[in-house]
Amino acid sequence: MNAPLPAKAFQARSISLSSRYGGRTVLAIGAHPDDLELAIGGMLARLSRESVRVVMAVVSIPTGFETRRAEAQRAADILGCELRILIDGECKRIDDIKNYQLVGMLDDLVRELQPAAVLTHSANEFHRDHVAVHNACISTQRLKPFDFFHFNPTMCRPVPVQFHPRAYVDVSKTIDLKMEAIAAHVSQFGARGLEGGEMYRDLARLTGRMVGVQYAEGIDVGRMLLA
Ligand SMILES: [Zn+2]
Repeated sequence: MNAPLPAKAFQARSISLSSRYGGRTVLAIGAHPDDLELAIGGMLARLSRESVRVVMAVVSIPTGFETRRAEAQRAADILGCELRILIDGECKRIDDIKNYQLVGMLDDLVRELQPAAVLTHSANEFHRDHVAVHNACISTQRLKPFDFFHFNPTMCRPVPVQFHPRAYVDVSKTIDLKMEAIAAHVSQFGARGLEGGEMYRDLARLTGRMVGVQYAEGIDVGRMLLA
């Protein structure tokens, strides 16, 4: 049996985030506050530290508007990202707006920001709001040839939903920032301590083992140009 490729050799051949997105804009779109931190908080922290403008767009805040908005802002500050609340000023559910309105909001954002990459929920989700945002992003793809990635299903407790990452981001240096950003959502994770959030450290550790690094986040590739 051949010896496995050493992790270092593997990494040396990988594409760095800064070489691909440095000086450009990456747009991350989550249905609710905390989705982005749970799924790709480590990646977003890395991007913002590697001279990428990162915009975290949260579509809606279903409950506790002021509290959850403040928590989302604190988490975005920890990660070094800009925060946009798309349905701002009041509690609303994504079901409260029409599909075309949701697509229109995302279209406006993409026209304004001209992102090099967009990250959002995958189609494999147990939460219908997450699927609605995924579907709206699929429509928004028509506007511009950005890289398009889908992230791990997000939840406070483990739910058996299939998701197979096809690309991996080393977040070993930003895992603590990710955990801090998750903890900023006190209304969601405060009562359970960090138990709910800690599941994501475990997942990052397991995902890291797949690619020979300490911690990683997995994403699925919807569309990507290899120049
Ligand atoms: Zn959510």
